[in-house]
Amino acid sequence: MKYQGKSVYKGTAIGPAVVIGNQDWRITRKTATNSEKEIQKVMQGVKSAQEELRILYEKTLEEMGESSAAIFEVQQMMLDDEEYLEAVCHLIRTERVNAEYAVYAARNHFFRMLSTMEDGYMRERAADVKDMSDRLIRNILGGSDPELELKEPSVVVADDLSPSEVIRLGKEKILAVVTVHGSINSHTAILTRMMGAPTLVCVPMELDKIHTGMAVIVDGVQGEAVFEPDEGMCEKIKRRMQKEQEDKRRLRELKGKENITLSGKSIHVYANIGSAADVGDALENDAGGIGLFRSECLYLGRNDYPSEDEQFQTYRKVLESMGGKNVMIRTFDIGTEKGADYFQLKKEENPALGYRGIRICLKRPDLFKIQLRALFRAAIYGNLSIMYPMITSMEEVEKVYEIVEEVKRELHERQVIFRTPRQGLMLETPAAVMISDKLARIADFFSIGTNDLTQYTLAVDRLNEDLEDFYDPHHEAVLRMIQMAADNAHKYGKWVGICGELGADLELTERFIKMGIDGLSVSPSAILPLRKRIREIL
Ligand code: PEP
Ligand code: MG
Repeated sequence: MKYQGKSVYKGTAIGPAVVIGNQDWRITRKTATNSEKEIQKVMQGVKSAQEELRILYEKTLEEMGESSAAIFEVQQMMLDDEEYLEAVCHLIRTERVNAEYAVYAARNHFFRMLSTMEDGYMRERAADVKDMSDRLIRNILGGSDPELELKEPSVVVADDLSPSEVIRLGKEKILAVVTVHGSINSHTAILTRMMGAPTLVCVPMELDKIHTGMAVIVDGVQGEAVFEPDEGMCEKIKRRMQKEQEDKRRLRELKGKENITLSGKSIHVYANIGSAADVGDALENDAGGIGLFRSECLYLGRNDYPSEDEQFQTYRKVLESMGGKNVMIRTFDIGTEKGADYFQLKKEENPALGYRGIRICLKRPDLFKIQLRALFRAAIYGNLSIMYPMITSMEEVEKVYEIVEEVKRELHERQVIFRTPRQGLMLETPAAVMISDKLARIADFFSIGTNDLTQYTLAVDRLNEDLEDFYDPHHEAVLRMIQMAADNAHKYGKWVGICGELGADLELTERFIKMGIDGLSVSPSAILPLRKRIREIL
């Protein structure tokens, strides 16, 4: 089976597929010696699943009305259905299986039964039985979200993946990613690119024909995913991978060399990271610093806010590992597809234009202060710059500075040792660029976020897979904005860099240097190719 998709990262990988979303991969049949204990687990799971459904019912009732909420009422009733629960308990007692497996088997049995019924209403209930059983299984397994753990390095295959799922799967075990949906500009794509994992999105796969364990080749150059490839194909791909290794080896010869053009113009090349674990890749690729640490990644894929101390330890580790090199940490940019349940963000019609980034920080200063305290405390362990995302006005920055002053006062009062880091602004809205002459007076530096700047300048949702042809970061309007930001920064003697994905676009490197951009921050794997390009420029 061969499918064509859009490539996010042009590498090649081969390995076993793990299909996420149909849950088969994580349910194992085990022998349970104590059946009553398993039945108790089921009953406990039913109780918590019922509670979840009750909350969902009420929330949906309030936000979308009775007819939409009714679905959860039906599921509550089905979860209490005697026939269903008896089937589960019967399996546990007679087959001596574990609780989650019994529910899984009952789920499949009722699903098959309902989906072949003549009555349209009953047929529709098949999806409900699946949905509520999966909820029950998750509750039995004790997770608020599905367990996501790869046992061996694998190619993740899914309908779609959220950034938090990518984080929970862990970069060590992700060989490649192939999804039916998704956009090449999404944070999921950015994360997998940062991990150096070949990734294809918009791949029209029939997921029920693909099974966990199937061999798969992900060819990021051709944009192809080949399931169960023949031997000849495997050989060809392995040869290609060897060549890629050879190219990488040659690039490694550039380690230790300067990012300098032939005529002697040098530029900073930094790394974008999402966790302390990525620092290894940054150093391995000879990053001159960290140009963007997306600190919101610390908030994703978990059930509660990271504490001040936990954040402090992470920032300290990054700063110490970078040994005095510039580390730019962006304060958390939660919102849009980077949501975490515990933030309890409302569902929005236009999340990209909604409650995200600095807006959350300003509305919830207590939360913001926790992060600021952790950052200011960590600042004494290295060379820290922090930057604020999604800025649109001078007033926002002034309010941020007021909060910063409060944090400093509080830390003084508590006699805690800290240092005030450099404070920069992300320019990722047209508003910020248009007033960048004013912002430059009050900021220590600028970092241009071209991913959002493109989205907001061109009015193109960066997550909409159908709009990718319209998402054009080379658009003259975007490039003029970058020039304007650079000129305004320099008028006030401020540093200006690019940390959006465009920074790694080798077609534009020469132009960025001509514009006077001081630094480019890119995925670790893009650092050495960028250095190679810079050194070829006159
Ligand atoms: C950007 O918008 O370019 C940026 C770097 O931030 P993010 O991609 O995380 O929104
Ligand atoms: Mg952004």
